[in-house]
Amino acid sequence: MTQTDSRIIACPACATANRVPAAKLGGGGTCGRCGAALFQGEPIALTAASFDAHAARADIPLLVDFWAGWCGPCRQMAPAFAAAAGQLEPAMRLGKIDTEAEQAIAARYRIQSIPTMVLFHRGREIARQSGAMPAAAIVQWARSVAPR
Ligand code: ZN
Repeated sequence: MTQTDSRIIACPACATANRVPAAKLGGGGTCGRCGAALFQGEPIALTAASFDAHAARADIPLLVDFWAGWCGPCRQMAPAFAAAAGQLEPAMRLGKIDTEAEQAIAARYRIQSIPTMVLFHRGREIARQSGAMPAAAIVQWARSVAPR
């Protein structure tokens, strides 16, 4: 098997890097370390401890929703972002960063307004979009900017 036949996927529970055969990406793979499902059909809450595993060391793009509990539009968009996860996995990972709890990450990427979505791949920012969007628009935008 060659490199291109598998993907590094970070576990949503323990952030361990798992090598997954590409053909099995959608097939309910589990983490070799903790046994959690690698894709759960919903965004995962990212922290400073888990962010790099998903943003830089995984092979699939990471779409992050920067949000905060006091932000009305953020709360409105939450169900749409969750629905988008069901459609965008396993081609990409969806995560949420609470900008109040994770101020260092928000500062590192100069998040000026929320909600802001940022697409990362291999540690680089690929695209960003500010403002709440419905699920279909999130999916369409993410697919349009995702690396091929
Ligand atoms: Zn795990």
